[in-house]
Amino acid sequence: MDKKWNTRTKLVHGGTRRSQYNEVSEAIFLTQGFVYDSAEAAEARFLQAGEDEFIYARYGNPTVAMFENRIAALEGAEDAFATASGMAAVSGALTSMLKAGDHVVSARALFGSCLYVLEEILTRYGVEVTFVDGTDLDAWKSAIRTETSVVFFETIANPTLEVIDVAAVAELAHAVGAKVVVDNVFATPVFSRAIEQGADVVVYSATKHIDGQGRALGGVILGTSDYIRKTVEPYMKHTGGSMSPFTAWVMLKGLETIDLRVRAQAEGAEAISDALQGHDKLSRVIYPGHPTHAQHDLVQRQMGKGGTVIALDIKGGQAAAFRFLNALEIVLISNNLGDAKSIATHPATTTHQRLSDEQKEVLGITPGLIRLSVGIEDKDDLISDILGALEAV
Ligand SMILES: *Cc1c(COP(=O)(O)O)cnc(C)c1O
Repeated sequence: MDKKWNTRTKLVHGGTRRSQYNEVSEAIFLTQGFVYDSAEAAEARFLQAGEDEFIYARYGNPTVAMFENRIAALEGAEDAFATASGMAAVSGALTSMLKAGDHVVSARALFGSCLYVLEEILTRYGVEVTFVDGTDLDAWKSAIRTETSVVFFETIANPTLEVIDVAAVAELAHAVGAKVVVDNVFATPVFSRAIEQGADVVVYSATKHIDGQGRALGGVILGTSDYIRKTVEPYMKHTGGSMSPFTAWVMLKGLETIDLRVRAQAEGAEAISDALQGHDKLSRVIYPGHPTHAQHDLVQRQMGKGGTVIALDIKGGQAAAFRFLNALEIVLISNNLGDAKSIATHPATTTHQRLSDEQKEVLGITPGLIRLSVGIEDKDDLISDILGALEAV
């Protein structure tokens, strides 16, 4: 029934299940389990749970199901499984479908914990992983082999905002029968069309734009019904990374406003990137939505918009970057992104601190680099805050 609706309608009404009280706002079913009318009913449900029948919150819960149905409708996916965090989603999506002897090809520029899962955990269980420069199609072509079973990448890399061509990499992967798993946080559920473009599995940290108000950790895995119910669900329900009903309620309410928030954030990011181009204290302003971005055509084709994050390289290295951060009055120094509040991060000393200097150099994480996640504040206030802090540099 949701199928004919446009995005904003799906985000407000998609997946709603009402109790016997016909509440307006979605109910939080804060319960670990459910009572059966009889012993026979319990036996029948364990044998085959119906569409609206639940057993135990680790397996599923009405509030969690509402969130799963709503995000699946937004993403154009057949089904979804909600997880306790973004990392439970990334590790669950991959581990549930891989076995010893499998080969994975992954982009090298990854969120630190994603890199840990691929480099340290999967390899411990006999999965071979080859890392490539995700923006180089020839590198993908030579790394993907007939026995490759999964290809993994972040559609926009953190923090340097390089964009990976979903359709082109999917074509190479599908030619050998490999599944394409994308971590789509930076592209956002609002601007991404990853499934339409060839991704088989899309993963989000719901902690970012889906909550969008810094309240809760969460994640979600999206894909075909077959993959979600036969591969992901058995893995997640037995290993314990399911989303709590309270978190699902927070994320459902986040989805109601995500389109409004993310579009306002992208508009702010565009205005800030325009205002900072050519600034004499900056050696680089990287924003996928600006015509000077190295892959601007791809961004236009793949997302239409540049997203909500900008990277700035401040001349004068770490000392200058710290002076900039310490002079900001509205923008917070923190490490979340996609939040309603604007947040600035110094990746070299925080999120990417553990990387060696060589690894930082390969990934373009310079001492002056600042990642700026643009919130929903007034864009003129944000521009004057940032210009003022650059004066202090
Ligand atoms: C934040 C993030 C994650 C991890 O999500 P959590 O909710 O913090 O577990 C994974 N991938 C990307 C790209 C992220 O930005």
